[in-house]
Order: sequence, then C-alpha cells, then structure tokens
Amino acid sequence: MPDRGRMTVACSHHRAVPVESGGAVVAALCPDCDQQLPAEWLTCSHIATVDVTGLGQRHAQRRCLGCGAQYSERG
Ligand SMILES: [Zn+2]
Ligand SMILES: [Zn+2]
Repeated sequence: MPDRGRMTVACSHHRAVPVESGGAVVAALCPDCDQQLPAEWLTCSHIATVDVTGLGQRHAQRRCLGCGAQYSERG
C-alpha cells in the first residue's frame, strides 16, 4: 500500500486518469500511487521542470512549472 502521508513520491504518474465532475475534468488521479494531481497534468508536456529533491530522499523529485505537479523521474 502506498504511504499517503509522505511528501516524497516515487512515481512518475504515467497512468494518471481524469477525475470528472459535472462533465468537466477537475483533477487527475494516479492509480499507481493514489495521488491526486492537477487537471493540467493530463495535458501538460512537462517540459519546464525543476529539481526539488531533498536531502536524504531516495528518489529524484521534480516539480513541473507548467502544471505544478511533483513526480519522480523513476519509471
Ligand atoms: Zn503516481
Ligand atoms: Zn506538467
């Protein structure tokens, strides 16, 4: 089971699916790590990213400046 209480994600959210409400996509949900992502994640190409890996974190973390989501490069 994924640990939802941590900021660190070891997931690239490749399989995230749209979350719809009233016919509009309001968010995205990753079935692999169960994390909710911005709806923009689905259409963003994540070209502009910054490394936000913290000290002692096992997996490299990146934050996308386009959609604001954080993800791991792994996978
Ligand atoms: Zn994920
Ligand atoms: Zn993005």
